[in-house]
Amino acid sequence: MGVFFVSVISRDLFLYLSNNKTLNRAAQNWGSNIASGKIVGGIDFPSSIKFIKELNEQGFSVTVDHLGEFVTSEEIARERTKECIQTIETIVAQRLDSHVSLKLTSLGLDISKELVFENMRKIMDIAEKYKIMVTIDMEDETRCEETLSIFKGLKADYTYISTVIQAYLYRAEQDIRNLNSYEPFLRLVKGAYKESPTVAFPKKADVDENYKKLIKSRLLNGHYTGVATHDDAIIEYTKRLVEEYKIPKHSFEFQMLYGMRTQTQKELVNQGYKMRVYVPYGIDWYGYFMRRLAERPANLAFVLKGMTKK
Ligand SMILES: Cc1cc2nc3c(=O)[nH]c(=O)nc-3n(C[C@H](O)[C@H](O)[C@H](O)COP(=O)(O)OP(=O)(O)OC[C@H]3O[C@@H](n4cnc5c(N)ncnc54)[C@H](O)[C@@H]3O)c2cc1C
Repeated sequence: MGVFFVSVISRDLFLYLSNNKTLNRAAQNWGSNIASGKIVGGIDFPSSIKFIKELNEQGFSVTVDHLGEFVTSEEIARERTKECIQTIETIVAQRLDSHVSLKLTSLGLDISKELVFENMRKIMDIAEKYKIMVTIDMEDETRCEETLSIFKGLKADYTYISTVIQAYLYRAEQDIRNLNSYEPFLRLVKGAYKESPTVAFPKKADVDENYKKLIKSRLLNGHYTGVATHDDAIIEYTKRLVEEYKIPKHSFEFQMLYGMRTQTQKELVNQGYKMRVYVPYGIDWYGYFMRRLAERPANLAFVLKGMTKK
């Protein structure tokens, strides 16, 4: 009954709730323990290390993300930059098999482009030194153009930088074409935000078709690609492509979110595929969790069950 109730709550409602600042503050205060070790690593990077080590020991690569977006203070954006640099240094010191993912709005995208460049250059100088890949997550469509332009600006100077293309956007195919000359490592996703039909396919079937088209074009052009999905149909499609076109398994990887579809994650590793697990951490878990509920409302039951077990 409970699971049925949450499953009828619409995707739109959860996406709407993901932007609610009051609930976000409340979640920071009371909820971090609910999520730790379930859908996020911990409240900070040090408390996530044991989970990352466990994943590495089981054959998973990782990418870590300090949760928290839409930073509007320059001071906080600079703090986030320092924290990201410390994370990279800890990854190296602890010999973790981990990349770093980040959102440009956490580094000041909504304040100024110059500030983001300055912060990203500080991060990339260290990432490049230690050969740690930094992936710029893609946020909502209004920030897509600027994010890609910053990515291209940085890619001219740094190797260890990648970004994300969202298959629900009409522009995705052209964006990939425009990026081809940079030979980038790209993560392909369906897209997690609420977008208007003027910019994104409104029907899931069309998003899925476009996603397959993008995966095929990337795998055939040989540029390293992260196929980031929990969708069995897409995973099977990718495996079939790999077999049909004899695509080397080292030229791509699957990616999934921490705590989601863990059995499938293990099976893919056992079948010889590379699997990267996206481990978010930090007290700002609320918006991230609401977007996961929008994708699959049953995730609410899963976290509540974990709460009662702890
Ligand atoms: C590693 C990673 C990084 C991402 N980075 C970004 C990003 O930078 N920008 C962005 O917009 N989006 C990002 N996303 C989210 C992505 O855009 C989708 O919103 C999300 O992955 C859901 O789409 P799907 O392809 O997994 O499956 P869907 O099409 O949503 O669902 C298909 C089926 O997959 C299963 N499924 C889907 N989601 C879950 C889940 N959470 N738990 C368990 N089963 C599930 C269900 O069986 C479902 O019926 C990322 C996703 C991953 C995995």
